[in-house]
Amino acid sequence: MNPFHLLIDGQLVGSTQVLHVIDPATEQVVAECPGGTPELANSAIAAAKRAFPAWRDTPYAARAEVLRTVARVIDENAEELSRLITAEQGKPRAAADFETVMAAAVCRYVASVTLDTEVLEDDASHRVLRRHVPLGVVAGIVAWNFPLVMAVYKMAPALLAGNSFLLKPSPTTPLSALRLGELLKDVVPPGVLSVISDGGDIGPLLTRHPDIAKISFTGSTVTGRSVMRNAADSLKRLTLELGGNDAAIVLDDVDVASIAPKLFALAFLNSGQTCMAIKRIFVQAAVYEEVCTALAKLANEAIVGNGLDPKTQFGPLQNRKQFETISRLLDLAPRYGKVIAGGTVERPGFYVRPTIVRDIEEGNPLVDEEVFGPVRPILKFTTVNEAVERANQSPYGLGGSVWTADSVKGAEIASRLECGSAWVNQHFAVAPQIPFGGAKQSGLGVEFSRDGLLEYTNSQVINIAKT
Ligand code: NDP
Repeated sequence: MNPFHLLIDGQLVGSTQVLHVIDPATEQVVAECPGGTPELANSAIAAAKRAFPAWRDTPYAARAEVLRTVARVIDENAEELSRLITAEQGKPRAAADFETVMAAAVCRYVASVTLDTEVLEDDASHRVLRRHVPLGVVAGIVAWNFPLVMAVYKMAPALLAGNSFLLKPSPTTPLSALRLGELLKDVVPPGVLSVISDGGDIGPLLTRHPDIAKISFTGSTVTGRSVMRNAADSLKRLTLELGGNDAAIVLDDVDVASIAPKLFALAFLNSGQTCMAIKRIFVQAAVYEEVCTALAKLANEAIVGNGLDPKTQFGPLQNRKQFETISRLLDLAPRYGKVIAGGTVERPGFYVRPTIVRDIEEGNPLVDEEVFGPVRPILKFTTVNEAVERANQSPYGLGGSVWTADSVKGAEIASRLECGSAWVNQHFAVAPQIPFGGAKQSGLGVEFSRDGLLEYTNSQVINIAKT
């Protein structure tokens, strides 16, 4: 593997701090890379601040063209980027390939969105315009579950809007982000893009720094609160994409054989390490047995292994801490329900088999907390009102779904779910052109779509008197 560098002020630089990146499939060090020190972070922020005015004044169309070049560079280096994603994150190669394709697609989509100046009023006495102006230096802080696409869907709108952008990947998955920075060194002007990996100490520095105008953060709700607290002193703009505990409500008119594979895939996507995976499965009494049996069968048949093996459907958990958290939940599971599939772990590698727990209710961490791994409870309900009320009891509100043969009824029930995205007969249906964000404690603001781009701007009114 080639050596890795930070990208600061258009230069590829090393650091006195060295991070040892672990392959979660083997628990072996897969690569070493530099970790940003506070001095390096401060110099990146200073460079970003210096670069901002010229980038802000670069024509919009030229900035869009840079993003199209970024997309091309990602495509041209897709093989290497996907390999790095699997090596650091653990997901199967096909999933890593998809993540890379999505990263390029997000850039192309963002490049196509316009933010024209709007004429709000134009009469005999006044002409009132609204411009969408960039904020300044934006920092993107991301989690480890989708290390490349998550970085790109923050970077692309930040840059198109005219901000300079500093990316801080998670300490356990820095490689694809660092390589992206290296590939873009001569594509994006010096200082306009910086990439700094770290050992866990740079996040608070960024969220407190007075020269950073906005934080776009993806991670846990607990950390999101800390980001918000730190950002308060300088009133930074915030986009927070936080945890979720999405409910799927399965009505008794469904064809179980046809929906079970979809429910299963959407609950265990990325080995359950997906903010918008189905995390609580509510099933109406008449089909409860059938759904439990079908999901347990799929879980028992699932192939868990090293992401490099083409047969693998589910890779390991991404890091030791997450593996230990999920292992503790597995120990608790028999106390609160009946484990009908999985429940086992394997080392070396942070492997957990897809686990289904039935005959379980609320009041325990397997249901009430966000389980960020491959363990899913199936809860029985009688009436739709009861299911909606129980689904809405969560403090989270990222996504939710209703599964039924009657899509009109499904849409009505979905509209009663307290979440940012409510789906019918699908889940996690996200796309670059559709806004995506959380209600309640799942976050603040949206990503994707024109709405997501606007979050990287301030509204500026120009009001011209004609007399
Ligand atoms: P964390 O919240 O622990 O970390 C996320 C990022 O924040 C990392 O880059 C981390 O790096 C950084 N960070 C940690 N503490 C601070 C701090 N005080 N100030 C600033 N930055 C900080 O989450 P995980 O990485 O463990 O990811 C798992 C969680 O993220 C799950 O709960 C999941 O639901 C949520 N998530 C939400 C998504 C969404 O879109 N809603 C998507 C993906 C994950 P460092 O440790 O170096 O500081």
